[in-house]
Amino acid sequence: MSIILDHVNYVYGEDTPLAVHALNDICLKIPDGQFIGIIGHTGSGKSTLMQHMNGLIRATGGHIYFNGEDIYDKDYDMKKLRSKVGLVFQYPEHQLFEIDVFSDVCFGPKNLGLDKKEVELRAYDALKKVGLPDELFYQSPFELSGGQKRRVAIAGVLAMKPEVLILDEPTAGLDPVGVSELMHLLQDVCRQQNTTIILSTHDIDVVPIYADVIDVMDQGHVIAHGTPEEIFAQPELLRSHHLRLPRISHLLEILQKEDGWDVDASVSTISGARKELLHHAAN
Ligand code: ADP
Ligand code: MG
Repeated sequence: MSIILDHVNYVYGEDTPLAVHALNDICLKIPDGQFIGIIGHTGSGKSTLMQHMNGLIRATGGHIYFNGEDIYDKDYDMKKLRSKVGLVFQYPEHQLFEIDVFSDVCFGPKNLGLDKKEVELRAYDALKKVGLPDELFYQSPFELSGGQKRRVAIAGVLAMKPEVLILDEPTAGLDPVGVSELMHLLQDVCRQQNTTIILSTHDIDVVPIYADVIDVMDQGHVIAHGTPEEIFAQPELLRSHHLRLPRISHLLEILQKEDGWDVDASVSTISGARKELLHHAAN
């Protein structure tokens, strides 16, 4: 278990009249090497939760353990935590600041105190991994397209070789091809490097294609936790929290309920739906 959250609470502006209880008694176990999707609509607490996982925000109640150590212990090395748990903010491209792309990606590994050669090797590898063409490496980050900037920002965190990579709504504002490319890249990082990926999104159609496990948030609570099939087998629960099924599951649900077809509506991917429909057609 790489990260464990034990009854975590967080109140913005605690003890003030404007206090907001953003996280309510969150208990979560994040297993190593998995792809975890956190879904929930705006204001449900996704960003607040993610910023707890690398120690950027300190819980107002509860405990967080990383690789078995309590990160709130007074001797705990927060710098080490941040080098192992990389966080990519929403719209990370707004944080690029170096003179050229390559220097920007070098920034993180340089701060880890690695020697120059290792830093440059990592930056090069990370830029290759995110698929940025070589001729852009020495351009100003400000001359790139939105999607390219996002890749550079993600490369900067990848170059630190984190054990856990947290990304807050990384697909926001990307076009459909950009979304697929980014999600595939993250899936490769997860499978090939055994990096744990924790990704938030409100795109309920995309997450089941890639995630091993989904946590659903509403009003600072984790209201459901499980595999995509387990989550989407509970349409009424999702709807009672103002969320919907993926469109493909919704179609199967209509065929099942309205047309009496013998199909499993918890299936949430095109390939899964295809199997269900072929099975129905054959019977
Ligand atoms: P999400 O990422 O799912 O949109 P957030 O974690 O940003 O949710 O927000 C959870 C709750 O905390 C919301 O009610 C939001 O208004 C509130 N909140 C977020 N950031 C702050 C802040 N800096 N100060 C006060 N309240 C905040
Ligand atoms: Mg957010």
